[in-house]
Amino acid sequence: MKNVPDYFGSLVFDDRAMRATLPPDVYDSLKKTINEGKELDISVANVVAAAMKEWAISKGATHFTHWFQPLTGITAEKHDSFISPLPGGGVIMEFSGKELIKGEPDASSFPSGGLRATFEARGYTAWDPTSYAFIKGKTLCIPTAFCSYDGHALDKKTPLLRSMEALNKQALRILRLFGNTTAKCVRPYVGPEQEYFLVTKELYDQRPDLRFTGRTLFGAKPPRGQELEDHYFGSIKPRVEAFMQELNKELWKLGVLAKTEHNEVAPGQHEIAPIYTTANIATDHNQLVMELLQKVALKHGLVCLLHEKPFAGVNGSGKHNNWSIATDTGQNLLSPGETPYENAQFLLFLCAVIKAVDDYQDLLRLSVATAGNDHRLGANEAPPAVVSIFLGDELTAVLEAIESGTPYRGSEKTQLKLGVDVLPKFHRDNTDRNRTSPFAFTGNKFEFRMVGSSNSIACANIMLNSAVAESLKIFADTLEAAEDFEAALNELIKKTIKEHKRIIFNGNGYDESWIKEATEKRGLLNYRTTPDCMPHLLDKKNVDMLTRHGVYTYEELKSRCEIMLDNYCKTVIIEANTMVNMAKTQIAPAVETYAADVARAAASKKTLDSGISLSYETGLVRKLSALTERIAAKAEELENAVLALQNMQDVGAKSVTIRDNILNLMGELRLACDEAETLTAKSYWPFPTYADLLFCVR
Ligand code: ADP
Ligand code: MG
Repeated sequence: MKNVPDYFGSLVFDDRAMRATLPPDVYDSLKKTINEGKELDISVANVVAAAMKEWAISKGATHFTHWFQPLTGITAEKHDSFISPLPGGGVIMEFSGKELIKGEPDASSFPSGGLRATFEARGYTAWDPTSYAFIKGKTLCIPTAFCSYDGHALDKKTPLLRSMEALNKQALRILRLFGNTTAKCVRPYVGPEQEYFLVTKELYDQRPDLRFTGRTLFGAKPPRGQELEDHYFGSIKPRVEAFMQELNKELWKLGVLAKTEHNEVAPGQHEIAPIYTTANIATDHNQLVMELLQKVALKHGLVCLLHEKPFAGVNGSGKHNNWSIATDTGQNLLSPGETPYENAQFLLFLCAVIKAVDDYQDLLRLSVATAGNDHRLGANEAPPAVVSIFLGDELTAVLEAIESGTPYRGSEKTQLKLGVDVLPKFHRDNTDRNRTSPFAFTGNKFEFRMVGSSNSIACANIMLNSAVAESLKIFADTLEAAEDFEAALNELIKKTIKEHKRIIFNGNGYDESWIKEATEKRGLLNYRTTPDCMPHLLDKKNVDMLTRHGVYTYEELKSRCEIMLDNYCKTVIIEANTMVNMAKTQIAPAVETYAADVARAAASKKTLDSGISLSYETGLVRKLSALTERIAAKAEELENAVLALQNMQDVGAKSVTIRDNILNLMGELRLACDEAETLTAKSYWPFPTYADLLFCVR
């Protein structure tokens, strides 16, 4: 087999490929477009398209597609072949600059939340040259943004690019104030750690709930779960190792910097993390990671579960979104510096994040809200739904010292101008409690841990970029107008700490007492569910901020809110229907058959010996019969409740009913079924149990 450096990025039309295939002047103007957002001339596009096509054909591609990220959360593609008929018969392979730059998929089936009337079904896709084209199978994939004809974003990439631009603009204003004249651009960098479960395809196929909803809707607690904590970082089983090896190879060919992989806490749970890159490319790459996880798993007879909570009572899967901001000259703005000036700049950016997270807790929370993640947040080692920041003791002490105007005592260093000591280098805090924070500072980046494993990371990063851009804008407005920069800077940092320190919490986020303190004493928000938080997308302060920075229009926000709530409703309704179906056609009949067999066995025993004790059988049959009654009744109740939803037009009201009523009924039905599972002989149970699923991959 070839060495990794030989095939890394071999399926990507990256800088190397561009340099090798494009004439120098065309290469230069394409680079300008990529780096500075300059518009691409059609004559340049034609040359690029021709080179891209030749390159793609040489790699075996026959088709091309505009690859985009509609609001469904997955990626979409419609393949067109390169072939073009010749007059005398036969074909040539063609691909024009126009086809590269713009596509017009019939997009009427993608959710638009009312943005696109059905008579105006078409949307268009536009090439995002900042993310390289790549080959998947036989298809050249061109990363694109997806808009309606009147320019409304119908995807996740467009607002992400807009939020990056907003952050860039405001961060540059701050850097100029600190005398930085060389940085041309500031970008957010993201490294998402992706968690997932693996189960064997054989067992997966036997569970309708996994197949239809991605999570188990039934399942009694197994005798052994994750108690032993022996899985985390444990040795990787050969079958999983083979899978990971192939996964890495496929990702590397696509230029995805897959770097680390290890077992997670729960049995059957694993993680893959790439080396960080710009938020935009990280988002595209994470979509590819999720897609390839599933494809490669199948090749190994496995199924990859990306659901946030595939198993109740066992750790869920998240996606830790590691986020930092850096200049094009390579300076990480969240890294403490060597000089007081650098430190002051670091503290200002840190304060911008603290303020952003406090002011826009709701946006961060709702950016990760889905029916699936609602089950994960606040349960089994997942961060709670309350947003707070972990800074670690040392940095917190620095901020406290600044706020109170006392010298920072943690360090030996002398007090310097700006009232800021030379800060110590902060290292990632590996203490356990750090893992409980939804938003943790880890030395030179923040780790946002609320993102769900199946979510696109676009939404979280859009909100993060925008909220921080807003803090920076407010800071820049103040500082640009100040007569004495240093005094104003000092004042601003102090004021920000004072106003926003409530969001800083270094304690145990899993502790019930924290939720009480957070909500009652600190006034932090606790939106437990999607219907709780999603409507706040349209709160005036949020709409004002997001429109001010040109990240969303009001119409786009309205449509997104509607789509997310609709998605929540549909997800839960599918789950409810699946439960009813499994309870009625699989579970109740199995329990009934078992009860009948036990009764029959008892009867035949009686004929053998009329004096024999049948208390075990009688007791069991009684219990099982009571349970089948309960299961049937609960299934019926749930079914009727779902039917009643059909009359509800308003998606907000519907989502609240689902949260308050349907989910409870689902819980009750599950309880009865899980109890029946513990009483029914294993050979009668109609599908694999938790114990089977969690320990099936060897
Ligand atoms: P772990 O969390 O497994 O201990 P790290 O903290 O080193 O490992 O990295 C986790 C993820 O954070 C990786 O995807 C890595 O690329 C990313 N990361 C590291 N540094 C940065 C940074 N400055 N900005 C954004 N992401 C980063
Ligand atoms: Mg981590």
